[in-house]
Amino acid sequence: MVNKSKKTLQIQKTYEALFALEDIREIFRQSLPVGFDEKQKEQFSSTIARIKGIISDLENGEGKPACNRVGKLDPRTREEEFINIHPIQAAGRLTPEARKAIISYGDGYSTCDYCRKPFRLDKITRPPIEEFHQDLAKFLNMDQARVVPGARRGFQAVTQSLVEKGDSVIVSSLAHYTEFLAVEVAGGVVREVPLNERNVVTADATAQKIEDVKSETGRLPKLIMIDHFDYQFANEHDVYGIGKVAKDYGIPFLYNGAYTVGVMPVDGGKIGADFIVGSGHKSMASVAPSGVLATTDEWAPKLFRTTQMVGDLTGRKFGVKEVENMGCTLMGATLLSMIASFPRIKERTANWEEEVKKSNYFLNQFLRIQGSKVLSEWPRRHTLSKVDTTGSFDVVAKTHKRRGFFFSDELKDRGIIGEFAGATRTWKLNTYGQSWEQIKYTAASFLDIASKYKLRIN
Ligand SMILES: *Cc1c(COP(=O)(O)O)cnc(C)c1O
Repeated sequence: MVNKSKKTLQIQKTYEALFALEDIREIFRQSLPVGFDEKQKEQFSSTIARIKGIISDLENGEGKPACNRVGKLDPRTREEEFINIHPIQAAGRLTPEARKAIISYGDGYSTCDYCRKPFRLDKITRPPIEEFHQDLAKFLNMDQARVVPGARRGFQAVTQSLVEKGDSVIVSSLAHYTEFLAVEVAGGVVREVPLNERNVVTADATAQKIEDVKSETGRLPKLIMIDHFDYQFANEHDVYGIGKVAKDYGIPFLYNGAYTVGVMPVDGGKIGADFIVGSGHKSMASVAPSGVLATTDEWAPKLFRTTQMVGDLTGRKFGVKEVENMGCTLMGATLLSMIASFPRIKERTANWEEEVKKSNYFLNQFLRIQGSKVLSEWPRRHTLSKVDTTGSFDVVAKTHKRRGFFFSDELKDRGIIGEFAGATRTWKLNTYGQSWEQIKYTAASFLDIASKYKLRIN
């Protein structure tokens, strides 16, 4: 068991101090333009005194617990208090740089201070947003990139540009719901590629599905949209082979990198992708909703087409505004968090093999608990995995008075959180970002819970 009380208090004190500093910041804002009046001077010195007290409590791990509620909002301290194995949260956890950026750029349209002609987000040079767009494209080995409010909006921009009513779009049998919706909103029809016996989408199966669609509808699909790693098993699908199939048929290929862009190297050229979509809040340590949509110079004019609309009374036109992006996309701290995290994102993709090693280490230990299974492909090539504990922890849950919640309780007692509370049959976890020390601790905790409940450990 972890002795948490002192640490918990210190975390509270940290938030209390951060919030108090915001109060100081507010005094500056209120005192414009002439500086503090008497009341503000008083507020300033009493707040400073309060902060000194908090800092001293923080240092010593003493003092009154602070509730730190903001209106109806409790502070979120999961990432400070626990190892978080939540399947979709692990790689979207912010870097300290991103957290600083949101403090600094939290105000509404904060990206727009120096917006000049042609008045478009991706052209702003201060802060260096234009440069970031170029860096993003280069990072993915594509020609052009835009930031989008989530991977889903990237899919949508592509489908709405390419797909017309009744057109078929090839997706995986493990496609994410947002891919379905993106096809639906454009009036298209999804056509799913079946999985092979290992739950993998192959190039052959994709080619076969294209042939099926062609013979059924008399037309080729308009788009192929495949996840490199799917959200259910995080199995690796043959995107390189599928890229070739797409070329052979002359069908554009959207590579869904929601679980790859930002954690592992992604090379659009090598894949043969016409579009690459990534998720900022899932895999790029960024504030939600954020993501990236990259394409080639060939597709850019269609995807990033500019407005042609003319007002019938005023004759107004809005020239360079891109239709699919509704002109501008991420106008504040969301984008700044992406930019602030980006240097680390580039660095961390080089450590992907190590992340995969840790994932396999953890699961090898997990598999020692008799009756436990890994449902994802094995060995793992990703940090997200689907496991089956029907034969182990669920056996305990059957007779435990807390049912499946016993397992969450035990994990939480050991400082681990993020598994789907109450689930002891099939569930997912993500080890991304844990140090070796943490991963060993997590594995040992699972074994410890197993032995506490007399499950056999091999
Ligand atoms: C999470 C996920 C998405 C959606 O990403 P957002 O950035 O939240 O829109 C799409 N596809 C896959 C495979 C995902 O795992």
